[in-house]
Amino acid sequence: MSSTGLIARLTPHQERILKTLETIEGEISTQDLYIQLRNTHKTLGLATVYRGLEVLRLQGLVQSRTSTDGESLYSLVQKHQHYFTCVRCSKSMEIDACPVCQVEAELEQKQSLKVFYHTLEFFGLCTFCQAAGN
Ligand SMILES: [Zn+2]
Ligand SMILES: [Zn+2]
Repeated sequence: MSSTGLIARLTPHQERILKTLETIEGEISTQDLYIQLRNTHKTLGLATVYRGLEVLRLQGLVQSRTSTDGESLYSLVQKHQHYFTCVRCSKSMEIDACPVCQVEAELEQKQSLKVFYHTLEFFGLCTFCQAAGN
């Protein structure tokens, strides 16, 4: 089976969402993405953006995570990045290392699974909040 067969054809709206995500550094909320898309495509509805993101997520093109204030943040899957989030000031920091890539390779090789992406998040206190007192 060819792997390209897994990807269904995208609608113009979905392609537009994908293209916009390509121009964004890091992550974006559905609402903010909607606002950006509206600048150039006035007829686009918020429901279309929600649906489009979900379709792209199910195809493994887009990933999402929930921020500490409960908002869904989206980014392209190829932006493989993990974060440490401070529970006190909610600041997120990028983590460079990833031990999960090895596990991912094993899942694909030994169990023939197709892994789109993985998530790994760290939570705790940043150095500033540790110093700011207990
Ligand atoms: Zn902090
Ligand atoms: Zn990783």
